[in-house]
Order: sequence, then C-alpha cells, then structure tokens
Amino acid sequence: MSFMQDVIARVQEKDADQPEFLQAVQEVLTSLEPTVKKHPDFVKARIYDRIVIPDRAILFRVPWVDDRGEVQINRGFRIQFNNAIGPYKGGLRFHPSVNLGIIKFLGFEQIFKNSLTTLPMGGAKGGSDFDPKGKSDNEVMHFCQAFMRELYRHIGPDTDVPAGDIGVGAREVGYLYGCYLKIVNANVSVLTGKGLEFGGSLIRPEATGYGAVYFAAEMLSTRNQTVSGKVAAISGSGNVAQYTIEKLIQLGAKPITISDSNGTVVDEAGIDAEKLQFILELKNFRRGRISEYAEKYNVPYYPEKSVWDVIREQNLKVNLAFPSAHENEINQLNAEALINNGCNCVSEGANMPSDLDAIKVYLNNNVLYGPAKAANAGGVAVSGLEMSQNAMRLNWTREEVDNRLQLIMKSIHQSALEASETYGCKGNYLVGANIAGFTKVAKAMLAYGIV
Ligand code: NDP
Repeated sequence: MSFMQDVIARVQEKDADQPEFLQAVQEVLTSLEPTVKKHPDFVKARIYDRIVIPDRAILFRVPWVDDRGEVQINRGFRIQFNNAIGPYKGGLRFHPSVNLGIIKFLGFEQIFKNSLTTLPMGGAKGGSDFDPKGKSDNEVMHFCQAFMRELYRHIGPDTDVPAGDIGVGAREVGYLYGCYLKIVNANVSVLTGKGLEFGGSLIRPEATGYGAVYFAAEMLSTRNQTVSGKVAAISGSGNVAQYTIEKLIQLGAKPITISDSNGTVVDEAGIDAEKLQFILELKNFRRGRISEYAEKYNVPYYPEKSVWDVIREQNLKVNLAFPSAHENEINQLNAEALINNGCNCVSEGANMPSDLDAIKVYLNNNVLYGPAKAANAGGVAVSGLEMSQNAMRLNWTREEVDNRLQLIMKSIHQSALEASETYGCKGNYLVGANIAGFTKVAKAMLAYGIV
C-alpha cells in the first residue's frame, strides 16, 4: 500500500460511520500523492495524518418551542477544523440530513478552499438537522436564537466567523446575529452574509454563483472559448443557482434548467432576466416550489427527477454544467450522459456535487472540470472581504467588490493550473486545487511545530 493509502486506511478505520467525510478525505489525499516525494518534511511531521483530524468538534443540544407550544430538540454542530492560516471560517447548514460526517466533510474541504482564496481564513463548518422548510418566521427565529445561545461562546472575529449555507440565508443570518449582539453586548462582526444595514458586503449574495461562472470562463479561456452563446444546465434554485443564472445571462449564455428537492424544470427558450426575477421572488420571499415556474411559463416539469437525470433521459443538449444544489448529485451514469450530450465544462457551485466515479468520467474525457473548492470559493472569498470591510469600518462599492472577486477567481484558477503543471498533471484542476490549497496550510503547520 502506498504511503497515502495508509493514511486513508487509518481514517477509514476511525471514521467508518462518516461516508461523506471519507469520500472527501479520499478525494483530497489521493490527489496529494505527488506532494509526498517533494515534501519529506510534511511526511516526517505527519501533516497528512494531522490535517484529517479537526482541531475540535463542538456538538450541542438545541431545544426550542414551536408555534403550538411544543418543545422541539435539534442537534447543533460546529467543527473547527484548522486555523493554521486564519480564524476558522465556514458556513452553517440547516437541513434534516445534517450529521457529524456531513459537517466534517464540509469543514475539511473548507480548509483548502479558504487557503486558495489568498485570504487569511482557516476551515470550519457547522449547522443543525433543523429543517426551516414549512416553519413560520417565528419558529425559525426561536430556533436561531436557541442555536446561538450555545454557539456564541465558541466564535469571535479572531476565532471563528460563521456564514450561511443550505437553509441559512439572509433571514437566518439576521436572527443569529441579532441574538449574538444581545448576548455579548458589543457590536462585533462575527458572521458574514449579514444584511447591508448591519455590516454586510455588497455582492456577498451574488458571490458564489458569480464566482462559479467566472471560474468556468477562466477554464474555457484556456481553450480559446467563452461562456457567451453556450447552453447551460444549473441545478438547485437557491442562492448559488440564482446568481449563477444571473451571471450567465449577463455574459450571453442560455441557462435552461433549474430544480429543487421536488423536481426539475426545463426551459429550452432560456431563463431570462424577467424569469429570474420570478424565481427570486418565488424562492426567497414566497418560499414556494419550482414547479410553479413550469406552470407560469408553460414549460416541462419533471417531478422527483434531478437535472442530471433529465439530461440523460431526455437527451438534452448542454455545453456547460453548474451543479448548485447538494453533494453527490452527479453519478457516473449522469456524468457520461452529460458528456454525450455535448458538455465540456463542469463548474461546481455546490460542495462535492460529483461523486468519485463522475469525476473520473470528466477527467478521462478531457472535460474542463472545476472542483467545488476552486469553483465555488467566490462566496467565502467575499465573506473574507466582508471581514476586511468590517475591520476597517468602511464599505466598498459593488464595482470594487466585484473586481476583487474576479481577481480572486482568476488567481485561484491560475494557482490550480500552475500546481497541476508543477506536479505533472497539467489541466487537472482537481489535483491542482488540492495541492495549491494544501501546501500553504501544510507549510504553516510545519512552522508551528508539533501543536
Ligand atoms: P440554498 O438553501 O439557498 O439552496 C439549495 C438548493 O438546493 C435548493 O433549491 C434546494 O431545494 C436544493 N436542494 C438541497 N438539498 C437537496 C436535495 N437533497 N435534493 C435536491 N435538491 C436539494 O443553498 P445554497 O444555494 O446556499 O447552497 C447550494 C450548494 O452550494 C450547497 O452544496 C452549499 O454547500 C454550496 N455552497 C454555498 C455557498 C453560499 O455562499 N451559499 C458557498 C459555497 C458553496 P429546496 O428548495 O427544495 O430545499
């Protein structure tokens, strides 16, 4: 067994009950194989074995009272994975599927993503198995307050700065932050994704989606292609999907799919700015289902199907793919179908949306594959810019933040590409992003000695 396979086997033995975390560890460590020969110092200091264990895992009980006066109990998590290069940073996810393994996989990925952004941020993730769907505003507020009553003691602007993720948008961040201020009695910027009125940054809501499109544009430019005129498939209809679609429209592409956990809509005429407004209103304010889009615009709706199933079953022609809903959306079969239907560029808005077999299909077919930790790093990058603005107590304009976001996405692309070349697999952004993100953190850990 190779050195790295040994490290992976040790994690598999200890964390056997955490499939998503094991998948992420396997994906990252396998691609770090070329670093072993180049860095005997990393091996000696056992950096590979150390980086797969979080600095700490905080698990807590979240009791709250619903609108009927009944006591509800959820589980809360905050995994502070690694703070070698900056304060812990990573979102909070509220979704019934949340468990320790999922939050660990997200926190682990976040270490390398944050390192790639060029900003000083460590890796963390948190959340709860609370489901905001179907809850009243009042219930969401009570839950957020109960969650923060424990979380507040573990976070701080130089310690740990959470943000949103699935199920945690502007409303939840507002309730969480309000409760934090109430408890600590100081206006301390301890969350990002805040409202503009209380320390938020312009472009933060747009950043992940815009960034995923900027990253796709960078990858396409290596083959003298552009986003303009391309047909794009997007999954999900939340924050990431919405602003991916907005940027695609602005750059002259044609987005044709959108989905939620109930099904998929295909609009072959293209989702335009007016239809996108309808989606924003539907999803962010009325909190309705995406099937309403199909009814309003009289286009096909496929209940219980993912975007990737529909592309395979209907032979839908697409050039670009932006998976933007959740982990493991795309398997081998759907990856093959995507390629057979004309897709040569996959830019991951969601975290780990392609399983390990799907990734093999992309790499074996010369697809421009932008892995999540590179392609969706725009969100945390602008969160980092929000922290900078808060620290300076001033606000940058939209243009300024967007320019910085574009520069960061270019830089991420460049460092992933360069690392892929240096380590002998030019154009493999997965290997490049993992190595570039890892090396910086590993060098910092090495400098600190054995701590
Ligand atoms: P939202 O909660 O805003 O939207 C999530 C979307 O995905 C919704 O349309 C939701 O459908 C759908 N979805 C979620 N779970 C499932 C499921 N199990 N099956 C089918 N559809 C599902 O989340 P975001 O847009 O913020 O996040 C989407 C992805 O992007 C996640 O992987 C997240 O980790 C990642 N990400 C987000 C960042 C951000 O800045 N927001 C930053 C980096 C990564 P429904 O409405 O029915 O729930």
